Amino acid sequence: MICNFKKSDIVIGLSACLNGDKVRYDGSGKLSSFCINELGEHVTFKAYCPEVAVGLPVPRPTIRQVKMGQVITVSRPDGSNNVSEALRSYGKKIAAISKNMSGFVFTAKSPSCGMERVKVYSTQGDVLPINGVGVFSNEIMKANPLLPCEENGRLNDAIIRENFVARVYAYRHWQQLSASGLTKHKLMNFHSQYKYTLMTHDLVAYKVLGRLLAQSSIMVNDLANEYISGFMQALTIKATRKKHANTLAHMQGYFKKQLKPEERKELTDQIDAYRCGLMPLVVPITLIKHYLMLFPQKYLQQQAYLSPYPDQLRLRYGY
Ligand code: SF4
Repeated sequence: MICNFKKSDIVIGLSACLNGDKVRYDGSGKLSSFCINELGEHVTFKAYCPEVAVGLPVPRPTIRQVKMGQVITVSRPDGSNNVSEALRSYGKKIAAISKNMSGFVFTAKSPSCGMERVKVYSTQGDVLPINGVGVFSNEIMKANPLLPCEENGRLNDAIIRENFVARVYAYRHWQQLSASGLTKHKLMNFHSQYKYTLMTHDLVAYKVLGRLLAQSSIMVNDLANEYISGFMQALTIKATRKKHANTLAHMQGYFKKQLKPEERKELTDQIDAYRCGLMPLVVPITLIKHYLMLFPQKYLQQQAYLSPYPDQLRLRYGY
């Protein structure tokens, strides 16, 4: 399967400071070079600053998550100027728009945008042992539990970055499929195209989802909802070197009749070298693609695993 989405086909939401917009409390931006200069070549970002949207000035006095009784607010450190409700309501508004998005990147640690581990303070200024979630990001994630979401800092990790982009493209593929009307046949095809992707993340989920699709008693829409929920969940599970190497070894099996002994050995050596951390994933995958070109195999050609996103992103060079 060749990844052939146009830039305008994939829309990803973004905290506006990551776009470089000078909207932070101190009048600065926080440009995400990966998002804007690399991923931005292939997708369309839509930027939102919830704090500016609810009328806070730039620059502005510090606001933070403050626990007032049983309620966590976003306010000045002493609990005044509570903007939680305004942020929540803006979050709901963007959440409705985000149904058409295929991902969202938030700014870490922000009381409005952080996805997790946002600091929560007492009114006396002590950090409390609570993991806060940004009020704006929480509304987006609650309304779209399947939407691939990440924080800017985590995207510096090669595996997390690759995983996020792969989830965005797979989710977009699913959105496109659903928009044209789902049938059992389309679901089976989708599952088949993502066989090796799923196997690399979670072999058990691959089998469970396959059994789910084999059930004839469930209405197609219910089946689709259950399927995509399990599918997106499976893709969040880390694909280790060992799991990638197993997938590559499976793929190698398709060429066992065509390859000469020395070619088989070269591919085996590359897979082993990748497994041991001696070379990046792109090396054995490139060789498999090369053999696929020489000896076409329909089933392998349709696999999303081989081209999950544009090669120019070079996401398989880093691990
Ligand atoms: Fe605005 Fe969110 Fe960036 Fe804060 S983290 S400046 S609220 S976009």
